[in-house]
Amino acid sequence: MTELTHYIDGKHVKGTSGRFANVFNPATGEVQYVVPLASTAELAKAVEVAARVQPEWAAVNPQRRARVMMKFVDLLNRDMDKLAEALSREHGKTIPDAKGDVQRGLEVVEYCIGAPQMLKGEFTDSAGPGIDMYSMRQALGVTAGITPFNFPAMIPMWMFAPAIVCGNAFILKPSERDPSVPLMLAELMEEAGLPKGILQVVNGDKEAVDAIIEHPVIQSIGFVGSTPIAEYIYGRGCSHGKRVQCFGGAKNHMIIMPDADLDQAADALVGAGYGAAGERCMAISVALPVGEETADRLIEKLIPRIEKLKVGPFTAGDDIDYGPVVTGTAKQNILGLVQSGLDQGAELVVDGRDFSLQGYENGFFVGPHLFDRVKPDMDIYKKEIFGPVLSTVRAANYEEAINLAIDHEYGNGTAIFTRDGDTARDFANRINIGMVGINVPIPVPLAYHTFGGWKKSVFGDLNQHGPDAFKFYTRTKTITSRWPSGIKEGGVFNFKAMD
Ligand code: NAD
Repeated sequence: MTELTHYIDGKHVKGTSGRFANVFNPATGEVQYVVPLASTAELAKAVEVAARVQPEWAAVNPQRRARVMMKFVDLLNRDMDKLAEALSREHGKTIPDAKGDVQRGLEVVEYCIGAPQMLKGEFTDSAGPGIDMYSMRQALGVTAGITPFNFPAMIPMWMFAPAIVCGNAFILKPSERDPSVPLMLAELMEEAGLPKGILQVVNGDKEAVDAIIEHPVIQSIGFVGSTPIAEYIYGRGCSHGKRVQCFGGAKNHMIIMPDADLDQAADALVGAGYGAAGERCMAISVALPVGEETADRLIEKLIPRIEKLKVGPFTAGDDIDYGPVVTGTAKQNILGLVQSGLDQGAELVVDGRDFSLQGYENGFFVGPHLFDRVKPDMDIYKKEIFGPVLSTVRAANYEEAINLAIDHEYGNGTAIFTRDGDTARDFANRINIGMVGINVPIPVPLAYHTFGGWKKSVFGDLNQHGPDAFKFYTRTKTITSRWPSGIKEGGVFNFKAMD
C-alpha cells in the first residue's frame, strides 16, 4: 500500500508514529493510499524548523514575497489538470468542480500579490512637538491551519497565501481524507521560490490538532470544518493564548417569493443543493417557498430537474452533475438522516436511496433526495446533512420564512429569489447571516471581499481572505518617536495656547 508523507523542511518525510488513516477513492470505495497521522513529536519538529526560518522570511521585502505568489499562480495554472485529477480521485468531485476548487484558491493568491500595498503602515507627522507616530503590521511568527476535506485546494490556499505573504511560517494540517493536493501545493510553493520550512504539511488527526493547540511557539490557528470541532479548537486555542479563527458548519436557506422567476429559482436550487453532492458549506439545503401555490409549483419544477441529474465518477466526463460523497461513513450518515426524515413525517418526493451505478457498486454514491413538508423540529431541518438532500419547508408568508432563517442556529449563507426590491432590501438588512444572495443561490464573496458566516458558523472576529486576512496574520505595532533637536523655538504657533 502506498504511504503518503508529511512535508517538513522542504522534504517528503515518512510518518514515524505508526498510525495511519486510509485514503479512499470514493468512486470505487477502494483504499488507494494510507496517510500518516503525526505524533506530537513530529508536529514539534515542524514547529522547530518553522521557528528557525521565519525571521529571515519576515525580513524579505514584501514585494519579493509577493513575487513568490505571482510565480505560484503561474504554476497552479500550469498544473491545473494534474491538481484537479488528484483532487477528484480522493474527494470524488467532478473535474470542473475540482478545477473550481483550485481556481477559487488561486484567486486569493492573486489578491495576496497586493501585499506591499496591504502591509503599508500609517504615519502621522508632527503628532506633537518633534514627535512622529507610525504604525506597522508585523508577522505573527509561526502560524497553523487545520482544513476540511471538502475544498482541499481552496481552503488551504485561503489560509497559507495571506499568512506567508505577511511574513509568517505556516504549518498546514489538512484533512486526512484527501491529503495529496495540499502536499502538491507545498511543493509548488517551493518551486515558486519559497524558502524551505516556510510552508510545511503535517498530516494527522486529533493528536496533531491538539499538539498545534498546545505548542507555545504557534501564534495563531485557522480552522475550517464542522461546528463541534470549530467550537473545541476555538475554546482550547484561545485558552492557550493564541489568535484563533474557526469556521463551522451550515444550513443555508433559500426563500422563494411568489413573484420569483420559478424556473430560474428551480435551476438555482438544483445547482446549489446537489452540486458537489451537497458537500459545500455554501450549499443550499433548505428551500423556503412562500405560500402553498409557490410551493406546489416549485416542487413540480424541481422533480424532473432532480431526476435528470447525472451522478457518476469523475472519469465519466464533464457532463456528470456530481460524484460520490467522500467516505462510506459519510454515506451512512446521510442515509441515516434521510430515514429520520421519513420517520418524523416528512414527504420524500424524490427518493435516491436505491441509487446504484453499474461497475461502481462499492462507490460512495448517494442519489439525489428531495423532501417536502419538512417541519422545523425535524432532525433533517436542524442538522447539517452535507449530502445531496434538499428539504422544503413551506412558509405561509415572508415573515415566517425570514424568521425561520433568523432562528436557525447556523448562519453561513442564505438567498432570496424575488422580483421585488423592497423585499430583497428588507431581507438583506434584517437577516443575521454572513453571506447573502439576492437571486444568487451561492453568494460566495470574491477574494478581495471577506468570507465568513455568523452564529454557530463562526468562532472569532475576523473573516477569511480580503482585508481581514491581512489583519489576522499580522500584529499592529505603533511607534511614537521624538527627535527634540528638530523643534524650532519661537515659531509662528504657540502650542501652549492651542492645548
Ligand atoms: P471536520 O470537522 O470533520 O474536520 C475538519 C478538520 O478537523 C480536519 O482536518 C480533521 O482532521 C480535524 N478534526 C476532525 N475531528 C477532530 C477532533 N475530534 N479533534 C480535532 N480535530 C479534528 O470537517 P470535515 O468533515 O472535514 O468538513 C466538513 C465540514 O466543514 C462541514 O461541517 C462544513 O460545513 C464545514 N465547512 C465550513 C466552511 C466554512 O467556511 N464555514 C467551509 C468548508 C467546510
